[in-house]
Amino acid sequence: MKNNLILAIDTSCDDTSVAVTSGKYVLSNIIASQTELHKQYGGVFPTVAKQAHKEQILPAILIALKRAGANWQDMAAVAVTQGPGLAPALEVGIATAKRLSSKHQIPLIPVNHLEGHVLSVLAQPKPQNVPWQKLDTLLPQTKNSLSILVSGGNTLFVKTVKIGKYKVLGQTLDDAAGECLDKIGRMLNLGYPAGPVIEQFAKLGDPKAVPFPLPLTMTKTYDLSFSGLKTAARNLLEENGVLKPLEKQAVYDFCASIQFAVFRHITYKLNKLLVDHEFSQIWLGGGVAANATLRRMIRETIRTNAGRVQNPKLAVPYSKKLCMDNAAMIGVVASYKPTQKTDSEKIERRPRWGLGELKG
Ligand code: AMP
Ligand code: MG
Repeated sequence: MKNNLILAIDTSCDDTSVAVTSGKYVLSNIIASQTELHKQYGGVFPTVAKQAHKEQILPAILIALKRAGANWQDMAAVAVTQGPGLAPALEVGIATAKRLSSKHQIPLIPVNHLEGHVLSVLAQPKPQNVPWQKLDTLLPQTKNSLSILVSGGNTLFVKTVKIGKYKVLGQTLDDAAGECLDKIGRMLNLGYPAGPVIEQFAKLGDPKAVPFPLPLTMTKTYDLSFSGLKTAARNLLEENGVLKPLEKQAVYDFCASIQFAVFRHITYKLNKLLVDHEFSQIWLGGGVAANATLRRMIRETIRTNAGRVQNPKLAVPYSKKLCMDNAAMIGVVASYKPTQKTDSEKIERRPRWGLGELKG
């Protein structure tokens, strides 16, 4: 097929991302980060995100096409994140995708951002010496896999019944794991986002130095909760409502301890899931999935449940760019969707669109 490429867009939060994909292969994956803009707020400021998406989206599209060595005649469809995410941010990607679909007379495929994170492990880099026209179009299939999605906006356990049909087995009842790390990092003055800094500092500290509680051990569910850890951190760091300055080594120890506490909570619930269910394989996705300690702790948990997972090798996205919010994963999801003509004008943002709502 000549025009089998997908131009995919993700503006769900604070990264403007545009990718060109062919099936599971990624030809380009541009991410224009807004981190510098949001640093001053210590989190994502929606109207600032919207304005930055508006400014960055067209240059990002041009660069994505150029890097892929493709043009609009090569595109079979435009894919866009419809939700979940920040409403004003989603709106920019959707409006742009609608315009492009109408201008180039190609279908618009709306994609669930969380489905993108689930299938991010299936994405593959385009082999360098194969032109995209010659790539194999076979899409990997899977049944009964467990995804652990850990990001700044979401933390959940998802079963892929089959691709397109998902069951949420457990999820955070309050903050996401990345959000928890970011908020505690803010108390420690580590800048935004703090997750990667905490990972580096944790290497120099003792994970047992500060005892944090293990949340939700009395509940039978696989749900998670990180707000108690955040409160515990605040109580330890504050004196009479004011944050105490810490010595360097104390900061390292605090980072190692809170990182360990957050990941121990995830692996405690993962262990429970593996004791109660059997899965074909385990997938990890989301921004926090870039963390090497989290990966190690999950691998150890899988090892202690050997025999309950058909393929015990933890699958992770092939690059850190595919862990964070990115459009390549949206393109991969779109390649599984039928491209029949839908009325693209009817596609509206869905800021709270849950994975369980997908029809499959
Ligand atoms: P996402 O929401 O998927 O874009 O991911 C962003 C979140 O991932 C933020 O909360 C970051 O602090 C967090 N994050 C990114 N890299 C790391 C890392 N190496 N360790 C821990 N958290 C991380
Ligand atoms: Mg995300």
